[in-house]
Order: sequence, then structure tokens, then C-alpha cells
Amino acid sequence: MRVDGRKFDELRPIEIIPNWTENPDGSVLIKWGRTWVLCTASIEYRSPVWQKEKNEGWVTGDYGMLPGSTDTRKRRPGLRPDSRGTEIKRLVGRSLRGACDLSAIPGWTISVDCDVLQADGGTRVASITGGMIALSIAAQSMVEKGLLASVEKLVREPVVAISLGIVGDDSVLDLNYKEDSTAEVDLNLVGTLDGKCIEVQGTSEGRAMEKKDLDKLLELGFKGLSSVSSIVKPFLKGQ
Ligand code: UDP
Repeated sequence: MRVDGRKFDELRPIEIIPNWTENPDGSVLIKWGRTWVLCTASIEYRSPVWQKEKNEGWVTGDYGMLPGSTDTRKRRPGLRPDSRGTEIKRLVGRSLRGACDLSAIPGWTISVDCDVLQADGGTRVASITGGMIALSIAAQSMVEKGLLASVEKLVREPVVAISLGIVGDDSVLDLNYKEDSTAEVDLNLVGTLDGKCIEVQGTSEGRAMEKKDLDKLLELGFKGLSSVSSIVKPFLKGQ
């Protein structure tokens, strides 16, 4: 039995509230259990020099935790680099670019900002998943402004993400903070709606993993991706 009574493959409840804020081109509040993340997507007419040469646009990701999002106050990063935040923002950007055909938006950058309002494990996978929905809403707004032929031209293969791990002797899906802080293995999986893999981040934090443990985790992870996909699909524009 898990700390919160869930089955080994049971997700926490996921609630998605599109257009939670009004100023960005796309916004979503994703409540994934007690983990709440605001994801916004903003369009700007600029693109990195190397993309200009290729006549492509760009999609970036950013990630931060608000001071009150954690049990004990998390100081704002200020000018000090936050290495965990940097790692996660790069993961968010790579994952979202994995969904996109950047040649559909030459000259344009879409910045996806993920701000954790409340953290209870799995903030990076909630950011990627919520960020994907915000990005699709922004793409829809580009279509409405005549800047993009269709959402699918940019968002070719939407992505979602899930966390899982080994807690004690059990492989479990969607770790909360209590589980995460005692996990032997921590794994994050990013994949497309039809079950293809974009990125795997897996770390053995207690004991080293056997290959069979990893195989079992991946099987559980792909099932998790499929469950998240069916929850998210109705909220994605252009699907
Ligand atoms: N956490 C925290 N303070 C921090 C970093 C993390 O309280 O400075 C908690 C938070 O609940 C987070 C969890 O630890 O969700 C797991 O963090 P991890 O780095 O594994 O990333 P996540 O699972 O959120 O993607």
C-alpha cells in the first residue's frame, strides 16, 4: 500500500484549467494532485540567429518554483544560478521542441514559462504536460491571427510526461514528494500521445538498478504516458 493509499499504477487526480490567466497567448493551470503549475506560452517576433539562418523559429522553456510553493520557503534564485531549475528548464524546452516542427514558425519564438505554485513531487512532468497544452493554445492563436496555417503544422506530435520510480521494493507510478524523497530509483519519461519516447531521465538514488528493474519501470512508464495522454488530449488544440 502506498503512503496515500493509491495502487502502484494509479495516477493522482489531474485537473486542467485552460486560460487561467488572460495576458499570455496561451495559459493553463495544471493541478496534478497537490502539485500545481501555471504554464504560460508567449509569442514574440524574434528567433535565435542560428535558427534564422535555417529559416526556422524557436520554442523555449523556463521553470521556477515560487517561494511559497514548498514546505519551507524557497528563496528566489535572484542572480544566483539555480542548477536544478536550469536542468528542468532545459528538459521542458527540449521536450516541447520534440513535439514541434520549427520550420512552421520562421522568425517567431514561443516562450513557455512554467511556475510552480505548489510542489508535491513531479513538478517537471506537470510543467511539460501543462506547457504542451499552453503551447497548443498559443499555436491556435497564431492560426487565428493568420500567422500559422494550422496547429498541427507546428505541433506535429504533442508530448506528455510522467514520473515513476522504485519505492522500497515496489515500482510505482506518479510519485508524490513523500515517495520521491525515499525512492531508490527516480525516473521521468517524456513521450508522444501515441506512445513514442522523447526523453528518459532515470537515476538510481539508493541502490544500483538491475536491467530487469529498468525494463519493468519502462513498461509501467509507457502505461502511465498513455493514461496521461487520454486525460490531456481533449485540452490540446488541433487534435
Ligand atoms: N522540492 C522542494 N524544494 C526544492 C526542490 C524540490 O520541496 O528546492 C520537492 C518538491 O515537492 C518537488 C520534489 O521535491 O516536487 C521532487 O523534486 P525533484 O527535484 O525530484 O523534481 P520533480 O519531481 O518536482 O520534478
